[in-house]
Amino acid sequence: LLNLDGVGVRFGTHTALDSVDLELDEHRTVCVLGPSGSGKSTLLRVIAGLQKADAGRVLLDGRDLSGVPAHRRGFGLMFQDHQLFPQRDVAGNVAFGLRVRGTGRAEAEHTVAGLLELVGLPGAQRRNIASLSGGEQQRVALARALAPQPRVLMLDEPLGRLDRRLRERLVVELRELFGRLGTTVLAVTHDQGEAFALADRVVVMRDGRIAQTGTPMEVWQRPASAFVARFLGFDN
Ligand code: ATP
Ligand code: MG
Repeated sequence: LLNLDGVGVRFGTHTALDSVDLELDEHRTVCVLGPSGSGKSTLLRVIAGLQKADAGRVLLDGRDLSGVPAHRRGFGLMFQDHQLFPQRDVAGNVAFGLRVRGTGRAEAEHTVAGLLELVGLPGAQRRNIASLSGGEQQRVALARALAPQPRVLMLDEPLGRLDRRLRERLVVELRELFGRLGTTVLAVTHDQGEAFALADRVVVMRDGRIAQTGTPMEVWQRPASAFVARFLGFDN
């Protein structure tokens, strides 16, 4: 479905991504793990079209995306700084991608209500963004990313600010939802348990390169390097 072919990104003299090759299969969830600064967000931003690659190509169904702006790529995005629209209420934020697509009002309201229930904010439609806690805002951002049912969904620390119980519930429900909708997901997480529960495949990054990729079981049982082993051990 989606291919990265030798993708490189540099910021001045710093190499954030160094000839990264990656393949995302349709209907699969890939989780990206790695230390802070290893290039996880940059990887998502390049695929999303929010960051230009200095080298290599991003291909969707074999088509080079280099000339395609972010909003035309049709991906669902949720980034670390969620950038909700502060002047719209919760429902206005979640429904954003639906209205753009021309979804009818009644259907949009129904979808919004269902998603707010999923993320544990039932009935929050009319709340002000500013009145929400950080974790609540994160959940609104997640609902907004899910709303248009994009074919490819990119999530950067989607559950990072939530407490353990909510995370555990959401991991199960998201996995079920992605399976049902056939969504292809690329998710960054700091939480190994989350990655291992959610992912069909994990990608471990180090200094802008892919240190290992495999099924959660493969990576867990046979770390490809001392770095991966240490990273998996330290993080828990
Ligand atoms: P974290 O887990 O802390 O979110 P990350 O793996 O997402 O980290 P990135 O945000 O991808 O890391 O950053 C990779 C490297 O590139 C870091 O060293 C970062 O400082 C650098 N970097 C990222 N964006 C920029 C930018 N716009 N200008 C300069 N340097 C940048
Ligand atoms: Mg990041």
